[in-house]
Amino acid sequence: MIAVLVGAASAQDYAFPSEADHQYFYPTAYVDHGGVTDWNCDSLTYAGHHGNDFGVGGFTGMDAGRTITAAAEGVVSATNDGEFDRCTTGSCAGGGGFGNYVYIEHPDGKTTIYGHMKQWSVLVSVGDPVSCGTPLGQVGSSGYSTGPHLHFEVRNPTYEDPFDGTCSGPPSYWNAQGAHGALPDPTCLAPAVCQPSDVLSCGDLLATDNDGAGSTNATWRYGCDDFVYTGPERTWTFRTALDQPVTIEVTGLTSDLDVHVLDDPACDGNGCVASSSNPNAGDESLTFQAAANTDYVVVVDGWQSATSAYSLRVDCQPDPGPEHTAEPVDTGDTGGTGTGGTGTGTGTGAGTGSGTGTGTGGTTTLDPRPSDDLDDGGVVGHLQDDTCACGSTTGAGRSWLAAGLIVLVRRRRR
Ligand SMILES: [Zn+2]
Repeated sequence: MIAVLVGAASAQDYAFPSEADHQYFYPTAYVDHGGVTDWNCDSLTYAGHHGNDFGVGGFTGMDAGRTITAAAEGVVSATNDGEFDRCTTGSCAGGGGFGNYVYIEHPDGKTTIYGHMKQWSVLVSVGDPVSCGTPLGQVGSSGYSTGPHLHFEVRNPTYEDPFDGTCSGPPSYWNAQGAHGALPDPTCLAPAVCQPSDVLSCGDLLATDNDGAGSTNATWRYGCDDFVYTGPERTWTFRTALDQPVTIEVTGLTSDLDVHVLDDPACDGNGCVASSSNPNAGDESLTFQAAANTDYVVVVDGWQSATSAYSLRVDCQPDPGPEHTAEPVDTGDTGGTGTGGTGTGTGTGAGTGSGTGTGTGGTTTLDPRPSDDLDDGGVVGHLQDDTCACGSTTGAGRSWLAAGLIVLVRRRRR
């Protein structure tokens, strides 16, 4: 399971984290790749900077209100608010350097950080799901800041540069990163649609495979039991006419594939019913209580570039229902009527459901305190450039759109 977590990385398509106020932002300091070198081998950075800073025109811009939005879908994993927000010294207390901030953990395991926000502007709380474009708060100058700006940082789990360039290896994490000195495109891409291509029925025994090509039939991403999977997937719809337990087995695996059942045809991660995710290449088996005439989605998923042929079997057990309780056992007095039937039926469903809930909420695996990374810590060079030297060129970067090249190979950059 850990292997899945570690490996479940793919490109995340970030939109610049402010669509409505995009025109007011401009880069003032990119990530430092060492020697005060940014992703383009230029020097628009300062020593040791772990994020990308975007100015908004000083305190005038800040006071006008510049909204920060989520760069991509995820769950809020940490927040801080209430800190003084007109810092000019680069060393104001509060928030461990980031002042007022929001952390978002994304389905691919990466985290984005939005730092130095305006006091009492934070709009989200830990555990809140957010979509790309969800407002998080406003630009401020809290924490270790010398002027109003957004500090946008990516961690995986240590900091990475979302920009791709000669001095920063691919991929770009932006859906369109734009030219050096300009801004990435703020447009959020529409989520991919889950389109199961086939139907499973009780008694089916299939010889099939996840060969990568099948991934076009599948989900873009979803969460089940804490985990998020990407890569080659194959999906089917399934329904039965009866309320009955259904077992799905996947055998003969040569790669680490997992099997999930979702009750949400959108495959968007909110409908996890059951999941089997043994490590390595072991067989997978799960049983869930199917409700009559309800659509389910069965997913066999591989992380990264895992592909494999396998057998998939669907075994629908007879509904144990009322017949069971009618059979007299030995203690007839208390056992009685409905206890057995309802106990079995709802027990399974409820158990899995709550498991998903806590799993998602519990994504606070990151240290919520950014004190280990005082990116802006008192560095004199981190002055806010109030002069916008850059135009609003955003279209040029369209060719960067590497969204389709679902990055099956993960690269960590520093
Ligand atoms: Zn910064």
